[in-house]
Amino acid sequence: MEKPIEHYWQIRLERLKEALEENRFTVSLAQDAAEVRKIVLEEILPKSGAKSVSWGGSMTLAATGLMEAVKAIPGLEVLDTANRSLPPEESLELRRRSLLVDLFILGTNAVTETGKLVNLDGMGNRVAALTFGPRNVVVLVGRNKIVPDLEDAMLRIKDFAAPANAMRLDRKTPCATTSYCEECKSPERICNTWVITEKSSPKGRVHVVLINEDLGF
Ligand code: SF4
Repeated sequence: MEKPIEHYWQIRLERLKEALEENRFTVSLAQDAAEVRKIVLEEILPKSGAKSVSWGGSMTLAATGLMEAVKAIPGLEVLDTANRSLPPEESLELRRRSLLVDLFILGTNAVTETGKLVNLDGMGNRVAALTFGPRNVVVLVGRNKIVPDLEDAMLRIKDFAAPANAMRLDRKTPCATTSYCEECKSPERICNTWVITEKSSPKGRVHVVLINEDLGF
């Protein structure tokens, strides 16, 4: 068999797609970043009729090249919350405003085989948008985010994703030095709000794009 690893994950992803659909999510399956861009730009975005778009911090989103592609669309209002050059107050205000856009894009820290999204946020704007506000939400999910259950999801996040993100963001937290979560009391702690999304409400508001590649933390 050619590409046995892709084949392995394709079967897992198709099973996960069914589980997510049972949970009222809309689901697309992409083989790589180029197909993700095609699905979002040519299907989801036009169908939504969105006039404004924003996103939450996501290495998966950055890896797909979607942000640049969306910013290049004429006439579309883009609230670029990933713009690190903004002064803190302006950046915070942009994140507040991003909660009312027509379409919000984010990654997920984990997804269970039973079709639940599990996220842990620092500021909370990303999980707030996932929960309520934007009319349409797109969640990009690399195959490396799949775990069996909630316990494994939380373990994955605290044991790997949070320390790796603390390192990425140059936070002064113990995990950024040791790689282990020490349940810190640091003011720069990035683990502040857990959100478990069991189902999309209303049905189809959250569109999950599963990707047959390892993407993001
Ligand atoms: S609680 Fe603190 S030490 Fe633990 S992962 Fe989060 S930021 Fe790192």
